Amino acid sequence: MLTFHIHINGLVQGVGFRPFVYRQASIYEITGWVNNTNNGVHIECTGAAEKVNLFYNSLISNPPHNAVISHHQIQPIDTRFFDAFTILQSTHDDKPDMLLTPDIAICHTCREELNDAKNKRFFYPFTTCLNCGPRYSITTRLPYDRVNTTMSDLQMCPSCLAEYRDLKNHRFYSQTNSCITCTIPMCFYSTAQHCISKDPQEILAIIITELQLGSIIAVKGTGGYLLMCDATNPVSINTLRTRKHRPAKPFALLYTDIKLAAADVVLQACEMNSLKDKVAPIVLCKLKSVSANGICSAAIAPGLDKIGVMLPNSALLLLIAETFGKPLIATSANISGSPIIYKDKDALENLFDIADYVLTYEREIVAPQDDSVIQFAGNTQQIILRRSRGLAPNYFPNPFTFMNEQVLAMGAELKSAFALLEQKNIYISQYLGDQGTLESQTCFKETLQYFTHLVKASPKNILLDKHPGDAVSQYGTTLAAEKNITVTAIQHHEAHFGAVLAENNLLQSKEPVLGFIWDGTGYGDDAQIWGGEVFIFEKAGMKRVAHLNYFPQLLGDKMSREPRLSALSLLKHFPDKQIILKEYFSATAWLYYLELLQQPVIVSTSSMGRFLDGIAAILGIQIYNSYEGEAAMKLEVMAAKCKNKPADYYAIPLENDCLNWEVFIAALLHDYLQKTALSVIAWKVFFSLAKMIEKVSDHYKIKQIAFSGGVFQNALLVDLIQQQLKDKCTLYFHRQLSPNDECIGFGQIACFSLQHKKQEEKHSVKEKISFKNYQ
Ligand SMILES: [Zn+2]
Ligand SMILES: [Zn+2]
Repeated sequence: MLTFHIHINGLVQGVGFRPFVYRQASIYEITGWVNNTNNGVHIECTGAAEKVNLFYNSLISNPPHNAVISHHQIQPIDTRFFDAFTILQSTHDDKPDMLLTPDIAICHTCREELNDAKNKRFFYPFTTCLNCGPRYSITTRLPYDRVNTTMSDLQMCPSCLAEYRDLKNHRFYSQTNSCITCTIPMCFYSTAQHCISKDPQEILAIIITELQLGSIIAVKGTGGYLLMCDATNPVSINTLRTRKHRPAKPFALLYTDIKLAAADVVLQACEMNSLKDKVAPIVLCKLKSVSANGICSAAIAPGLDKIGVMLPNSALLLLIAETFGKPLIATSANISGSPIIYKDKDALENLFDIADYVLTYEREIVAPQDDSVIQFAGNTQQIILRRSRGLAPNYFPNPFTFMNEQVLAMGAELKSAFALLEQKNIYISQYLGDQGTLESQTCFKETLQYFTHLVKASPKNILLDKHPGDAVSQYGTTLAAEKNITVTAIQHHEAHFGAVLAENNLLQSKEPVLGFIWDGTGYGDDAQIWGGEVFIFEKAGMKRVAHLNYFPQLLGDKMSREPRLSALSLLKHFPDKQIILKEYFSATAWLYYLELLQQPVIVSTSSMGRFLDGIAAILGIQIYNSYEGEAAMKLEVMAAKCKNKPADYYAIPLENDCLNWEVFIAALLHDYLQKTALSVIAWKVFFSLAKMIEKVSDHYKIKQIAFSGGVFQNALLVDLIQQQLKDKCTLYFHRQLSPNDECIGFGQIACFSLQHKKQEEKHSVKEKISFKNYQ
C-alpha cells in the first residue's frame, strides 16, 4: 500500500468533481479523502500502486463533462491508512487560485424528471443537479459550496439531504439541491406592493393565461430578469416596444425545443448543437419564408432576415415555454440603455412600467448576466456577439507567463467587460453594457468589486483606453489613485489586435502577422477617430501600417446614430452626387449640413463602421440607426438577397499607407446611378472588402492574418474572407471572445505584456552590458 497526494486545478468546482473522485475511489478500492479548497481539489489516496495509477489516470483523462483541468500533479507521501474514502468539508483559508464555473443550462436528466409525473421534481421550477444549474450567478464566496452561495439560508429537506449524501444519486453533493418540500419561495406580483400568489403551480397557470391574453410578464432568470410575451401576438410585441422605448432592435425568442424552433428558422447542425449546449445561448438563425408557428417576424426583428433563438436554460423557463406551447419573446429586462435588472427590489420598483406582472423568487443573483448571443458564418465559424451567461467568466490559462504581476484591465466604454490577470489565469468578466448611464457605471463597479473580492485580487497595475472621456477609464484612474498604483493607457485598436493575437497564441510568433482591426470608434494616437486600421505584428511589436483614408467626423457621436451624416461626409468630394442624399434631410437641415461640410475639418475618422453606415445611407437602405450596427446589418440583409453574384468588385487601392476608398465610392455611385439592383451593390460592398484584404496581404507579403473589431461580427463578411483567403493564408479570428469591444480588456493585458517584456529585455541587456564592464 502506498499513499499519494494529488492536486488538481482548473474549472473543478460546481461541476461534480468531488463526487466523481469519490466514485472513482470506490471503483479502484482507494481510501483517503478529497477536499475542495481555494486552490483547487486536493486528494490524499492510499491503495495498491497500480490501482492508484489507474485512479489518477481516470481522474485526469475522463473528468466530469463540465470540468476543465488546467494543472494536475501527483506526489508520493508517507504511507497513511484510512478506513474509507471521504469528502472533507471545504476549506478556504488561502487566497483563491482556481476558476469560477459559469452557469450551466438544465441538463437532459433534469428535463426528463421535470416531465415525469412519478418524480418528486415533477413540474418543480428549480430542478437542478450535479451537472446543471446556476453557479457563477449565485456564488458569493469561494470555494463553491452551498454555504458560499445565495442558497445558504435554505435548508435541504430530509429527502433532498438523503440524495445529497447518496453516492449513487446524481444529486450526490449537488450544492443547489432543492425540491417542492424545501422549495425556493416564489412570489408573483401584480403591482409592486401586491403579491397575488406564492404557489408555483398556481403562478404557472396564471402566467400561461396572461400570456395568452397578451400580457407582458417579467420573470427572474438565471442572470437577471427577462421580459416575456407571446411572439405570435403583434399587439403584445408592439406594446413591449413602446413601453421599452425600443422601436426596432430585434428581440430574441424562447422555444421549448429544437422541433418548435425548426418550424420558424432554418437550422444548421452547428446551430442546433449550440442551442442544445450547456451554455444555451441565443443563436441568430435564418428565418424561413413562412413561420409555421405564426410568429410576427416583422415586429420581432424589423427588416432582418435572422432572429435570435434560445432554448430554456432553467427548469422555470422550460415549464413556462412548454406549457405555453408557442414561441415567446424573451428579452433582457432593462430600462432603455441601462444594464439588465437583477435585484428583486429594482425589479419591483422599475419593471411595472413595462410588465403587467413580475415573478420573483428568493435566490439572489450576485453576478448580473444577459443571455449570451452567437451566430455562425458559413457552416462552422462561430462568432460571439455577446459573451455573458454560460460563457462568463471566461478564463484563460495565463499566456503571459513571463509577467507575474496582478493586472486589472478596465476594457472599453461601449461593450464593457473588464479583465483580470491573476497568477496562472486571466478572468474576463461578462458583458457589462454601455457605460453611458449611471446605472451601467454602478453595475460595472459592483461587478468589479464583487469579482475582485471573490478571487481576492489586489492588482498592481491598471490598464485603460486612451480615450480621455471614457467613464470606465476615469473610474480606473480613480481606483489607481486610491490604491496608489500605476496606470497605463493602451490604444483601442492595438488592444483589439493584442486580443486576437493572444487568443490565437501568436504573441511569440516568429512570422509577421497582418491585422485588420475594423470597428466603429476608437481614439487614435493622432487624436482622430480610428476604425479602419491595418497593423503588422513583428518581433513582438505592433505598428499601424495603413488605414482607411480619413473623412470628416460630423458632429461627434451623432454620426454613429445617423448614417446619413456618414454618407454626406463620404460624398464631400463628390459635390454633384450629394443631391442623392437631399431627400433624407429637411430643407433647413440640408443647408446647414452642406455648409458644415465646407468648414475646416476638426476631427476626422477612418472608421470602417461609419464607412459601411454611409454606404447604407447612400443606397437608401438605412438613414438612422435606432440601435448600434443597424445600418450594417440591413446592408448585410440586402446583400444576402443577391442571387447572381458578380465577379467584379470595387477596388480600394493602397496609396501612401492609405486605403483610398474614393475610388470605391465612385464605382459604387456609378452602379447606383445605373440602377444596378441594390442587392448586387450591397453584395459587392462586402466582396470588395474581402478582396481588399487579399490585396493588402499580397502587398505586404504576409500570409498570417488576424481580424478583430465589431465589423467582424458580420457573418457575410467573415464568410467571404474565408472563401477568398483560406487556401492561401492562415486566418485568425476570435474564438472564445467576441470581436467587438468586449475583448478590449483582454487585449489591453496582451499589449501591456508586450511592453513589459520589452522593458525586461532592455533591462537584461543593460545588466549584461554593466556586467561586461566589471569583467
Ligand atoms: Zn441536471
Ligand atoms: Zn427537498
